[in-house]
Amino acid sequence: MSDVLTTLLDLLDEGVCIVDAEGQIARWSSAAEGITGAPAADVLGKPLAQVVPGAVEAFEHEYAGGPIQASVAGRDGVPRLLVGRARPIGSPGKAQSWLWVFQSEQRIREIDQLKAEFVGTISHELRTPLTSIKAYTATLRTNPQLDEGIRSEFLQIVEAEADRLTRLVDDLLVVTRIDSGFMLRRRQSVPLQGLLERVLTNLARDMERHPIVLDVGSVEISGDPDRLHEVFANLLENAVKYSPHGGEIRIWAERLPDGVRVIVRDSGMGIAESELSYIFDKFYRVDSHLTAAAGGSGLGLYIVQSIVRAHGGTVGVVSGVGHGTTFTVYLPDRNT
Ligand code: ADP
Repeated sequence: MSDVLTTLLDLLDEGVCIVDAEGQIARWSSAAEGITGAPAADVLGKPLAQVVPGAVEAFEHEYAGGPIQASVAGRDGVPRLLVGRARPIGSPGKAQSWLWVFQSEQRIREIDQLKAEFVGTISHELRTPLTSIKAYTATLRTNPQLDEGIRSEFLQIVEAEADRLTRLVDDLLVVTRIDSGFMLRRRQSVPLQGLLERVLTNLARDMERHPIVLDVGSVEISGDPDRLHEVFANLLENAVKYSPHGGEIRIWAERLPDGVRVIVRDSGMGIAESELSYIFDKFYRVDSHLTAAAGGSGLGLYIVQSIVRAHGGTVGVVSGVGHGTTFTVYLPDRNT
């Protein structure tokens, strides 16, 4: 088998098994090892019927149709249920070789659960602003005599909720781009002060409750301006959102020999130490009544970390419940 094909098979998340015309295992990819717990050295050259009992019969009965289930016991002796598809290789009528691609049934269940959680989170995040938009527009439509001040207040709420929907959809699009590996469009020197001023213009906040102290001088950071805007928009949005009682937000920057460190500090509700290692995970939200009231999809910090890493940088956090939160973003001058 060519090197390219070998590499390709090993890149797949699914296990790949090739069975020769004698019914022996001729190829067992590294994912197949991981999924089954059976190393290639233990199975290569052995009859498939011995390693995965019932698999060959299952192939012959079902290859034209649905998924094939078969069970294998790895080195640890624990049986694992595998679900996959098999296709015969070569011309029909002759002794058949087989190509079998499979995944563990448990992994498929986990993926299904993640999908269900995703749909649940997103539906909730879509429904909350939509419910509010519907209620306020219905009130406006059925009460044409409403006081001008109240009408304007209601319309502002509708606008803010529509903005929230737009942000959610934008976040989902960014996550899709991150997951497909497409991140940085261009890399250039970006004056930090100007970038932060643009972020602050779009940030919904009460200026008096959330005064912002910006002290970044003439520091320039290196990267994709649009992506870097997303980084600081997410961090500052969180700083406001998770400081429900108000409080100062400080942003300052330090030039280092090989890059720039930007620090965003709020004096809000803070994060428990036990949560800190999870908050950058996709869809992760701290489970408390305070964060529930703030709303969110759990995508913001995942986006922040992914973008910063794509720039060759790092993001860190220091926090304590009731003691505010400090995020530190390090961006190297050039991606090394
Ligand atoms: P979202 O804000 O949509 O929930 P994020 O990924 O931006 O998602 O944040 C993940 C979690 O980290 C939040 O649910 C929140 O509990 C916590 N968090 C993020 N930033 C802050 C902050 N500045 N202060 C307190 N908690 C925060």
